[in-house]
Amino acid sequence: MNKSGKKVFTSVNELKNLNNIPNGKKKRIMMKNVEHLSHYLNIYRDAFAQLTSAKKTFNAIPSITNLERYSNKKIASKKLAEAENNILILKSKLSKYINLLLYDHNCASGKRSKMTADELYAIVSAYENKEFKDNYFPANRLKTLAQNNSNLRRFEFELEVVNQIIKGKFNFSDKKKPEDYWVKQAAILEKKITACKDRKSSLDETFRSMQYAKLIKRFDQLSHKTNKNFVPAVHSEYVIDFENLTKYYYNKWMATKVLKGFDLKIKQGEFVVILGPSGSGKTTLLNIMSGMDKATYGKTIVNSNNLIKMTDNQLTQFRKDNIGYIFQQYGLLPNLNVRENVEIGWNLQSDKSKRLNIDDLLKTVGMSEHAKKFPYELSGGQQQRVSVARSMAKNPAIVFGDEPTGAVDEEMSKQILQLFVDINKNYNTTVIIVTHNPIFADLASRVIKVNSGYIAQNYENKKRKSVEELDWSSTH
Ligand code: ADP
Repeated sequence: MNKSGKKVFTSVNELKNLNNIPNGKKKRIMMKNVEHLSHYLNIYRDAFAQLTSAKKTFNAIPSITNLERYSNKKIASKKLAEAENNILILKSKLSKYINLLLYDHNCASGKRSKMTADELYAIVSAYENKEFKDNYFPANRLKTLAQNNSNLRRFEFELEVVNQIIKGKFNFSDKKKPEDYWVKQAAILEKKITACKDRKSSLDETFRSMQYAKLIKRFDQLSHKTNKNFVPAVHSEYVIDFENLTKYYYNKWMATKVLKGFDLKIKQGEFVVILGPSGSGKTTLLNIMSGMDKATYGKTIVNSNNLIKMTDNQLTQFRKDNIGYIFQQYGLLPNLNVRENVEIGWNLQSDKSKRLNIDDLLKTVGMSEHAKKFPYELSGGQQQRVSVARSMAKNPAIVFGDEPTGAVDEEMSKQILQLFVDINKNYNTTVIIVTHNPIFADLASRVIKVNSGYIAQNYENKKRKSVEELDWSSTH
């Protein structure tokens, strides 16, 4: 069983067992597919026996010293390549029926096209747990693989012949060629063999990777079947309520699982610092929490919004109403004064009752006296305060900072962090800061450490420090 409670199949015999399938049309189709599968399994067994015997025959022929052995080995080499290619073809046939059965077993509705994301998740899991991995075998690539394999066997045979000629152990009819010629031929053949071997492993990998990406694409699309008109609110005691959060990035060629299925709950008013090395998935997590990107699978509730089911337009509205960002760049509009810049953020909030009083806010960020000034009249620190006020004016449920002090000096970092602390205290706004700088953990009420797409640690910090108390020495 995996997390979704679905069965992950581990053997072909389990797939062939239809005891739990209720009688009906679906079962009749599945029985046919079990028959096909059994048929090809038998042929596969025979083909495997043929391959074993072809190998044996090939290996039994002693080194080529005369024409008879030459032609025997040539034939044996050809037969070996044929037996190998036969296995490829059968793998592809088997994979077809294994996949059909896998889908039918998991699909409750009886119609494969009506499969749900939860049902497909079990198949994704079976794939990732390396069960049936070899059986996702693309039929349309067989010719390329088989051709490459035949070439490899032929070049290997030719190399053996040439080496025997060089050693003087086999007199080929074409005696006139000097030794140099054969040495060169050997080098060329060695290169060709290496190329074939490289191509074989890269083809295997590419095709497998493409099949996986195709599966993930389908999974992603199924998860996101959206309701354009209305997505009902999901009430939760948490402002962030994630379960089994899973995120893949994919294109035609490959899919990567970046967030690997974890739970995460954050309460309104918490001050959260998310730490983790570069590439661990912090930004991806932040993008999903803030509605900038969608998870592939899992429960993703933010402030009662069911994000995974939302359309892009609905997500834009969600961000306007719920989310504040604080960027490294201040992004103030140069032709507007401080107050007007803050008003822009204020106007984003569609629920007017939530909007904060701009004068109070300017006071909180220490910019009351500069309300009429334009950005060029302000220092960097002051501009950052205005940008903080602008993101806060709509009174977002959550304010995010992605490496908010990444590009500034220590003094400025302290000021920015102090603003986060003040906002959190004064407005009970949930603050979520993503950083690789472990010093910030001391500020947080909750520390979350991300590593390789998992949450490695998640704890409440009982000994919170103030910004002044932070120890910056370790950053120097
Ligand atoms: P962090 O913020 O912790 O440095 P990220 O969330 O940016 O980590 O990235 C996590 C992993 O996801 C990295 O391996 C990265 O290469 C990969 N990744 C991020 N964005 C994409 C994307 N758009 N397409 C493919 N892979 C991505």
